[in-house]
This record gives sequence, structure tokens and C-alpha cells, in this order.
Amino acid sequence: MADCIFCGIVDGTIPSEKLYEDEMVVAFRDIHAQAPVHVLVIPKEHIPSIQEVEEESGELLARIFSTINRLAKEHGLADRGYRIVNNCGEEGGQTVHHVHFHLLGGRSLTWPPG
Ligand code: 5GP
Ligand code: ZN
Repeated sequence: MADCIFCGIVDGTIPSEKLYEDEMVVAFRDIHAQAPVHVLVIPKEHIPSIQEVEEESGELLARIFSTINRLAKEHGLADRGYRIVNNCGEEGGQTVHHVHFHLLGGRSLTWPPG
């Protein structure tokens, strides 16, 4: 989608530090890391938010979560623990309107968020 930062990351017109890519998803480091490990996992398809993810997207969701699972292991987080975040809509704090999941870890995380 034109003017979407994450579509630009998918097609390579916007540079990013990609950690994983396949035919469905891309994982890359967040530009403003909030933890030692802060990775974003996104579908290649432009889906605005989790609200638009349908039951037919089951395979995509499975791919997103298996990717997060593997990245967590690769970064030594499996035993330490970590957090997966999806911000949805204005009050949910979503700033980029291409659905994405944050993987945060490598430090002790507080709860609840602000
Ligand atoms: P949201 O608040 O929508 O859940 O999270 C959007 C995230 O995207 C933020 O953590 C922000 O730092 C990250 N971000 C925004 N623009 C870019 C960019 O151009 N490159 C990368 N790697 N991350 C970005
Ligand atoms: Zn997009």
C-alpha cells in the first residue's frame, strides 16, 4: 500500500535490519528499541490492524507466532521470558497501520503498561 512504512520495509524501499523473511512474513528490529531485544513481526500483505484479521488468516497467524517463538529462542529468551504486544487502534497506541506484533525481551518488563 502506498505511503505505508511497513509495506516499504517489505519491498525494501525503506531500509531495515531484517532478521527473518519468508513468503508470508517479515521480522525486523524496531527502530526505537524499548528493550535489548525488540523485534517487529509483520505479514507481507497490508492488513491495517488485528481488527481486520479474519478466521481465514489462521495460517498467517500461525506463521507469525511460530516466527516469534523461533526468534525468542534464537535470542536466548525462551528460558528468561519475554512479551508479545499488539497495539490496536488509537487508544491501543497503534502508530503504524499495518498490523504488527512486538517481541520484547532481554530485561525485566513491568506490568501493566501505561
Ligand atoms: P505501534 O505503536 O504501532 O504498535 O508500533 C510501531 C513501531 O514501529 C514503533 O515501536 C516504532 O518504533 C516502529 N517503527 C516506526 N517506523 C519504523 C521504521 O521506519 N523502521 C523500523 N524498523 N521501525 C519503525
Ligand atoms: Zn502496509
